[in-house]
Amino acid sequence: HKKLIGGFKRTSDKLGENLTGLFTKSALDEDTLDEIEEALIVSDLGPGMAGRVRERLADGRYERGIDEAGIRQLVAEEVEKVLAPVARPLEVEAFPRPQVILVIGVNGSGKTTTIAKLAHLFLEQDYGVMLAAGDTFRAAAIGQLKVWAERIGVPIVSGPEGGDSAGIVWDAVKQATATGIDVLIVDTAGRLQNKRELMDELAKIRRVLGRLNPAAPHDVVLVLDATTGQNALSQIEIFKEVAGVTGLVMTKLDGTARGGVLVAAAEKFGLPIHAIGVGETLDDLRPFDPKELAGAIAG
Ligand code: GDP
Repeated sequence: HKKLIGGFKRTSDKLGENLTGLFTKSALDEDTLDEIEEALIVSDLGPGMAGRVRERLADGRYERGIDEAGIRQLVAEEVEKVLAPVARPLEVEAFPRPQVILVIGVNGSGKTTTIAKLAHLFLEQDYGVMLAAGDTFRAAAIGQLKVWAERIGVPIVSGPEGGDSAGIVWDAVKQATATGIDVLIVDTAGRLQNKRELMDELAKIRRVLGRLNPAAPHDVVLVLDATTGQNALSQIEIFKEVAGVTGLVMTKLDGTARGGVLVAAAEKFGLPIHAIGVGETLDDLRPFDPKELAGAIAG
């Protein structure tokens, strides 16, 4: 449990640090409200959240002042309001099978690990799972995914480095369909340095999938590294344009990250958040629980 809220605790600490000394027993004046708003912004919670908490503080109910715990309570309420509508686990519900989940994200975001964690999760739910090594750009990516597939005990379709990713996806869907697989998880290249090529490659994968099943891909999951902070927000923007995104997984919330960026992302994009990554092992994918996280963020 401690691990789960690591990144959120950091946001909360940061918030506390900035709120310390601000709690007031006199009426909240403009300067104090400014400082509280600033404290919320530098905690990564985003200007929208900061503005709303400020408005609530300024509405007259706190004429006799408010302490830090009171402010945290308001923050928790506001955070939960933002997070609750976007919490949505990844469900296996596609008919006909398989459900095709494209996983996208920049290299190093935790994409491969997240694919393995998702595969593990679906296996635990008794679904048949297959992986497709669609990131043919990096030999290491293919190798790493194969190692995970073997460790988890799921079939994988792969090809040579530099091979045609759409061809691999085609083969994978054929095999998954023939063998009654429920979920096909497709790794994709994460080279954002060459946006045009990446866009073309993903478009081609989509065309191939669409020919086999007009509903595929059923999910396009963007993996984001929470330690990149505000960068995660610009990645959402770019990948929405390049690939279309249906949902998010944020990783490394056990590390040095501050989880507040998740709130900013929810607020700005309203995309479903499926799960969060809190470590490097298969069991370190946690469901996204808005109430728990709101409490952890507000401290
Ligand atoms: P990819 O390049 O996007 O496929 O990234 P990888 O899945 O290879 O992950 C990059 C590094 O981040 C690896 O060392 C992973 O073990 C690590 N990693 C992935 N997810 C998490 C997470 O939730 N928490 C922590 N602490 N490390 C993670």
